[in-house]
Amino acid sequence: MSNRDLLQIIIERVANNAPAHGAFFYWDEVKNWPDGKLAYFEKIGLLKEAQPFNEIECNGCEENCIMPVSINPVTNSTPARAFIVCDKRNDIGRVKIAFDRLKNWQLTELLLAQFVAKLFEFTQQLSKDADSWRLGMLQGQKHKAPVLLVFDGLAAVIKVAGHNVSLLEVLLIDDDQCRIDLKKLKGFVDSPTGLADSKESAEARQDRLLARKRALKSEGVRNFNQQIATEEAMSLPNVKKLIKAAEDREKTPPNKWMSILGM
Ligand SMILES: [Zn+2]
Repeated sequence: MSNRDLLQIIIERVANNAPAHGAFFYWDEVKNWPDGKLAYFEKIGLLKEAQPFNEIECNGCEENCIMPVSINPVTNSTPARAFIVCDKRNDIGRVKIAFDRLKNWQLTELLLAQFVAKLFEFTQQLSKDADSWRLGMLQGQKHKAPVLLVFDGLAAVIKVAGHNVSLLEVLLIDDDQCRIDLKKLKGFVDSPTGLADSKESAEARQDRLLARKRALKSEGVRNFNQQIATEEAMSLPNVKKLIKAAEDREKTPPNKWMSILGM
């Protein structure tokens, strides 16, 4: 199994799992990976060791029962021991469990989004609108566009300037590092397609900036406008103008005739 094979397994599992919990990788699986691969993926930040299990599949009976793990702590004469008590067959009883089998590694959508944002050297705080992670603004030669990460079925997809590309297609991985294909992605930024579904409407953008301002204020951030300007790679007056437009819109109820006419 190459780094690329493992990367594919990892990303597909994240895409296929509940966003909050993400994907789990158990010792029983990762012990079969080639030497050093687990350490490598931990080092680059794609896998994090999670809480050890408190339940595990019984390897005493043949019924694959899942049993709570009991731990006998270390004493003067015995090391710590982990075991389960199988209740499926009465000739089995206690089954000793190797501590390694309790270990597991996790990758959530958020961790994957952070990992990808770091490859772009984006510094803005990540946010998730509906199904899209907004990673940051990518500057091409001529244009600038937001980069989104979306999970769709088994795939993680990068959306930029109306182009959709599988994350696996733009992640370049070798033995000591993982990079993102910036050249290809900046090319997308400079040749936006007509159907730019990653393009926000002006009002959606104003609303998003206002929501961000409120979130920052509630976190106690005082120079929120400046922070938003940095996150969005926008000028400070522009940030203020867009937020004010959203605030004004909230204050003014839509004109009755306009709404009847569907304008
Ligand atoms: Zn059992």
